[in-house]
Amino acid sequence: MARRAGALAQDLTVARQGRIQAAVRSSLHKIPSAMPVPPPERKPHHRPGGFRNNYGDFAAKPLAQVLRWKREARRQGLPPPPQAPIPQVAPDLAFLHGNAAGATQPVPAVTWVGHSTVLAQLGGISMLTDPIFSQRASPLGFAGPKRHQPPGLALAQLPHIDLVVVSHNHYDHLDSASVRALARQAGGPPLFVVPLGLKTWFGALGITGVVELDWWDTHRLGCVEIVLVPAQHWSARGLNDRMKTLWGGFAVLAPDCHLFFAGDTGYSRDFQDIQAHFANRQTPQAGGGFDVALLPIGAYEPRWFMAQQHVNVDEAVKIHRDLQAKRSLGVHWGTFELTDEALDEPPRALAALRAAQGMDADAFFVLAIGETRRLPRRQPLR
Ligand code: ZN
Ligand code: ZN
Repeated sequence: MARRAGALAQDLTVARQGRIQAAVRSSLHKIPSAMPVPPPERKPHHRPGGFRNNYGDFAAKPLAQVLRWKREARRQGLPPPPQAPIPQVAPDLAFLHGNAAGATQPVPAVTWVGHSTVLAQLGGISMLTDPIFSQRASPLGFAGPKRHQPPGLALAQLPHIDLVVVSHNHYDHLDSASVRALARQAGGPPLFVVPLGLKTWFGALGITGVVELDWWDTHRLGCVEIVLVPAQHWSARGLNDRMKTLWGGFAVLAPDCHLFFAGDTGYSRDFQDIQAHFANRQTPQAGGGFDVALLPIGAYEPRWFMAQQHVNVDEAVKIHRDLQAKRSLGVHWGTFELTDEALDEPPRALAALRAAQGMDADAFFVLAIGETRRLPRRQPLR
């Protein structure tokens, strides 16, 4: 009897996984073969040959300023070493795999893999944000920012990934080896949802299951809606492609969880716009604001160089409030040493700010690498 029940549960799991794979395939069939790209200048953030920010455009810092930053950092011995090791725990693989496609009662949950890579489970699917599992965030295997902590889950430990969202093409967010490995996962590749201009990059790797979105465009995967939203940032992978592909964040709306992922961003009015855009779907009757926002809290010093492109902790909390998110998870810290603050400073600054403002510890939290936070299901009022 027990064996029969087990076999039945397994059949249901296989059937459900089959349905999600079919949804990935059918969602791809809805992509027109050539995405209509609006003519240049038709939208305020489009410009000939590329894109711009909504509020205060990003001006590339001249080389002299880059050199000044590096010179001052060296003179002051920055970044200082971390005061303590970055917390890391063994992942709860039994839960994560049981909660993947096929679960009869999936629970919304977020697991920090490291940097901006989060395994989010919502709407019965498993998704990754900006997956990077490599040793370096760099085009080179031997140089560039090195990983300080191993990923919270190795690629081989992941449940089947149904969806990958990529916020922009910087090396710490779009990693070729990680994307190629995910495209080869057992059971079929995930759907990749990316900002305008990145489909060609995936195509060059032989990856075709890619949907490109402009800001405010939506793509649907089963019961999950994926919307690309603005962020104040920039793009480049080489010397001659600055601002040529789009950047952004994502709103991922499932019946049991509304998730927000900011990607990389400076502080701007974009977050008030995003709250207004979703306001009529996030009334108290409809279940309220975003159930969880994944917001960057690291890579912010020195401010004279970084403020335009990366928020500090104070600004991340402002974004949390602008979005009217129920809770936020601080990411983009503790993994790659990119800037002048210590690798472990962001959560200390966050704790100090929460204490100063009387903010609940669960309202804006961090996780250990590998740790999972289960979230209450979104509850529309009846
Ligand atoms: Zn970036
Ligand atoms: Zn980044």
